[in-house]
Amino acid sequence: MSSAAKPQVWFLTGSQHLYGAETLDQVAGQSQQIQRMLTDSGAISAEIVWRPVLTDSAAIRDVLLAADTDPACVGVIAWMHTFSPAKMWITGLDVLRKPLLHLHTQLNEALPWASIDMDFMNLNQAAHGDREFGYIQTRIGVPRKTVAGHASDPVLAHRIDDWARAATGLAHLRSLRLARFGDNMRDVAVTEGDKVEAELRFGVSVNTYGVNDLVAVVDEVADDEIDLLVADYADAYRLAPALARGGERHESLRYAARIEAGLRRFLTDGGFGAFTTNFQDLGGLRQLPGLAVQRLMADGYGFGGEGDWKTSTLLAAVKAMGAGGTSFMEDYTYHFGPGTPKILGAHMLEVCPSIAADTPSCEIHPLGIGDREDPVRLVFDAAPGPAVVVGLADIGDRFRLVANEIDVVPPDEPLPNLPVARAVWQPTPSLQTSAECWLTAGGPHHTVLTSAVGSAVLRDFARMAETELVLIDNDTTTDAFADRLRWNQAYHRLAHGLR
Ligand code: MN
Repeated sequence: MSSAAKPQVWFLTGSQHLYGAETLDQVAGQSQQIQRMLTDSGAISAEIVWRPVLTDSAAIRDVLLAADTDPACVGVIAWMHTFSPAKMWITGLDVLRKPLLHLHTQLNEALPWASIDMDFMNLNQAAHGDREFGYIQTRIGVPRKTVAGHASDPVLAHRIDDWARAATGLAHLRSLRLARFGDNMRDVAVTEGDKVEAELRFGVSVNTYGVNDLVAVVDEVADDEIDLLVADYADAYRLAPALARGGERHESLRYAARIEAGLRRFLTDGGFGAFTTNFQDLGGLRQLPGLAVQRLMADGYGFGGEGDWKTSTLLAAVKAMGAGGTSFMEDYTYHFGPGTPKILGAHMLEVCPSIAADTPSCEIHPLGIGDREDPVRLVFDAAPGPAVVVGLADIGDRFRLVANEIDVVPPDEPLPNLPVARAVWQPTPSLQTSAECWLTAGGPHHTVLTSAVGSAVLRDFARMAETELVLIDNDTTTDAFADRLRWNQAYHRLAHGLR
């Protein structure tokens, strides 16, 4: 499931006819220089596509409608090089459905104190031109990110990249199809939610399939396909001797490969980019899918255990935001001490090898639940480093994202008896405050753990999806966080209005 071409963001420049053709040519030239500076920074993951300077409302409306309908375009950057009377932007901004970034910059860096004249002033007036544009966006209520600074500043390019990644994640969700094999795990509350609202808010279409629809495809997989996958496994992982060719459990590895090939075919044929499984509803599957799920996540598919379509959706979005370490995760158990308190996260089987510190080990062990044959899985420790965990909850009248900045650390000691992949982390600002805030927010126990994108990307994503996000970081206190939840409650109920 590799994504196609690089996503595009369109770079729009506002001006007006008043300045005459000669000045407008200079405006166009300068705007192309800004586009090149941003591109040449190498820090922005999307292609920045320059569009001709805009000087009237018809052209503005046309280009924003075109941005809305072009599947390659994930968002629009707008910069008012000169003074662009903002009434000409009203009908265009009113139709724009894609994310908007307001870039507030000017080409000239140092003010030429000795030589400055009115020609210079006319070519460097974004300082007030962009204020006019900021006014109309606020007047209309356009959700956007505003970024100010000189285009040569690496911090500015980085902040644009955060937004571009968020926009790419949202664009991925707009057409995402998610297959659920079975329903939720019985009696669990947090994995429930409003699928109609999810499709309206994010675009994702969530539908259930009987697990035996999948079993039919799994049973049809040809032996030579299985041979190829089994050879792949031997190359990519440290294979337990019992699973290797000639080993007494080799047949279990071949069945795990059969599940992977069948699952891939089902997802590819149906155009699905995400899925869920449920260990209470395995139909004719002989193993709970472990290895297959781990490898599909590594290829960019969203996944949630126990029918958790919301976490699967979120995982697919974060995978689209950036390549790197991103996995389905569950807060499993605590280390209160000695030393800094830590969380050990894992799942029954399904942790993505993109977060592995070293080559995963491919093993087979009994599983106490699911009532099936022993499943094959990859076992590893997560790579240390800064990361974020984020969860998506349906709190009744809206979705809420809860995120926590964390440091993944090596386990204090080896874990020779733990037969699943795991991550150990220290949450910010502390385990106590993090857990108190997470629980107060009603955040889920299933999350996405990512070192591929930071919390700034998630914040941009939440803003453009018009979804609440509460972040727990080093500045968080339990009392201030609880206050924020109360204010947010009032804000979101007012913002969504009556319907
Ligand atoms: Mn779970």
